[in-house]
Amino acid sequence: MKDKGTLVVISGFSGAGKGTVMKRLMEKYDGYALSVSATTRKPRPGEEDGREYFFRTRDEFEKLIEEDALLEYAQYVENYYGTPRSYVEEQLQAGRNVILEIEIQGAMKIKEKIPEALLVFAELQTPEALLVFVTPPTVEELERRLTGRGTETAQVIADRLARAGEEAEGMGQYDYILVNDTVEECVDHLHQIIVSEHSRVSRNAEFIADIQKQTKAFQK
Ligand code: 5GP
Repeated sequence: MKDKGTLVVISGFSGAGKGTVMKRLMEKYDGYALSVSATTRKPRPGEEDGREYFFRTRDEFEKLIEEDALLEYAQYVENYYGTPRSYVEEQLQAGRNVILEIEIQGAMKIKEKIPEALLVFAELQTPEALLVFVTPPTVEELERRLTGRGTETAQVIADRLARAGEEAEGMGQYDYILVNDTVEECVDHLHQIIVSEHSRVSRNAEFIADIQKQTKAFQK
């Protein structure tokens, strides 16, 4: 069975620990590629162009949209965020699982747009993106993680929790809910979900057709 890359979309509440989980997934397992998004937001201290994001001006970003260089994009708190198409296509073609860590509007666009948006999907017979939503085990824990940083004002915490309410409405649109209790378990679980996805019948049409053809030859 030829292993092909899967496009994996990860979303989740602010404070769910997505970033830590993705970092650990890359370190622990082979065969993954993390997509770096373009954004118009300003870099935070310690962030580097091309590593966390491709930091672009509004004009530059709008040019990317015009050129159809983005697989999806969304506006989030007055800034644009988008996924460069070419990297995703190259990595899928190379058989890697590509991870997009994006917010819910972008996730829904990917769900609707695939397979038309990506020619490579037709070639690879991988018509489905896998959508995973990451959450802390309880709402109390979400609150604790958000307040625990100690750096945010009560208003910022209240805003983020209010956003969590909006995001929770979309949870039912995802394929899997991933509980981030301990990072190590969460990473292993995510890896298992992705590996299982490779065995999905709809992703192995060519392999199945081949077996059917060969076994047909045994019939009298
Ligand atoms: P931050 O500014 O905190 O880095 O990111 C804000 C939000 O934008 C997060 O929810 C993050 O997942 C989302 N995001 C990052 N890159 C992209 C992207 O390429 N497309 C979309 N739709 N959302 C993104």
